[in-house]
Amino acid sequence: MSDIHDLDRRYVFHPFSVAQNHQQSGATMMARSAEGCWITDDAGKRYLDAMAGLWCVNVGYGRERIADALADQARQLSYFHGFSSMATEPAAILAERVISKAPEGFSKVFFGASGSDANDTQAKIVWYYNNLRDMPQKKKIIARDRGYHGVTVMSAGLTGLPGLHAGFDLPLPMIRHVSAPHNLWTRNAGEDDAAFTARMAQELDDLIVAEGPDTVAAFIAEPVMGAGGVIVPPEGYFPAMQQVLDRHDVLLIADEVICGFGRLGTWFGSDRMNMKPDLMSVAKGITSGYAPLSAVLVGEKVWSVICEGSAKYGAFGHGYTYTAHPVTAAAALANLDIVEEENLVTRAGEMGDYMNASLKKAFADLPITAETRGCGLMAAVEFAKPHGDSWQKFDPAAGVGPRIVRAALEDGVICRALPNGDAISFSPPFTVTHEEIDLAVSTVRKAAGTVHDALR
Ligand code: PLP
Repeated sequence: MSDIHDLDRRYVFHPFSVAQNHQQSGATMMARSAEGCWITDDAGKRYLDAMAGLWCVNVGYGRERIADALADQARQLSYFHGFSSMATEPAAILAERVISKAPEGFSKVFFGASGSDANDTQAKIVWYYNNLRDMPQKKKIIARDRGYHGVTVMSAGLTGLPGLHAGFDLPLPMIRHVSAPHNLWTRNAGEDDAAFTARMAQELDDLIVAEGPDTVAAFIAEPVMGAGGVIVPPEGYFPAMQQVLDRHDVLLIADEVICGFGRLGTWFGSDRMNMKPDLMSVAKGITSGYAPLSAVLVGEKVWSVICEGSAKYGAFGHGYTYTAHPVTAAAALANLDIVEEENLVTRAGEMGDYMNASLKKAFADLPITAETRGCGLMAAVEFAKPHGDSWQKFDPAAGVGPRIVRAALEDGVICRALPNGDAISFSPPFTVTHEEIDLAVSTVRKAAGTVHDALR
């Protein structure tokens, strides 16, 4: 083991990693450099990154233009804050640019540094809004099973994955969850889209009524769920859910941390999924991961209440040292220039169609392929045991998804085993080529075949 591996093994507390295993075995891979869709590790081995890091490196690695923007801004103004009405030029320009792309009705941007803090900010905005409306009891937030909203105390509770709650005393008591619209595990046999959607909307309505509409403040949802399994909702799902929310005066928060800035082939996932959110969270694609930046987009309906509320509370008592950081804003502006000049949103839609079709074709004949699904440049293949006309989950101890991912990694392709089942995800940079998609698909198909053979 090299010295650096040893340093990592001994001193770094890794996120979402098994502490004991890491302490014994050290890093799976030590990334050293990257270009386009390719990572090179410390031993010189190259990997095709079919996940764009964590769904974020949308314009690909190694963009000189973003590196220059970061360096230029750091030289000119390395830092200044936004408290007490202080401002910097890059943040103001970026805010206008984000609003110009957002769905109608959005008018303000609150910057942060991560998707998790954006969703925490959302909860505080929603509570503040209802306190200002003299509805202090209207505070509960409904999220969905399998939804991923981050890891801070509020966001981890909103996340509907047990692994983020266990051992942390979460979720907080004002959080509720409804079912995910998952074809394999939630849709009843023979249920068409209309019936499935109606049942999901009824479940939401029943929960709000049972809790008391005067206690429910907001519903948060990703347009397409990412980490929970790349779950694409059935036709008409969001309009039906929205009717329920409107009926009970419940705000809709779109968590666009993955979908925002083009991944579904539209600027925002809300555009593609027919959502009309009151609030949106974005992160990842705003800088393509070159710098940590998130934003909460606030619609006029909520903003007008907050603005008038200045009279009651004075300063809005929330904000981070790094809110509206000028260096990260400069990275975002350079990133968005690339996205626009290279027409990458359209490209994400086109390459996504190709990737989804390729995955469907390649995995159709593997007996453990329960479903291949996706939208734009987000896709998953879920593996399960055939069980009559339906499917049964593998015992998690068999580690089917993780074994496939490990075998693919050995063959030089990075994809991701998602929690809660055996789904493997794909979310490459928007610059991915047909040949790179072919390579990712064939490598993972080979890995899945090997694992399938070993299971028999
Ligand atoms: N929301 C969604 C939809 C995400 O996918 C993520 C991260 O993957 C987050 C929120 C949390 O973002 P972060 O990891 O930047 O805190």
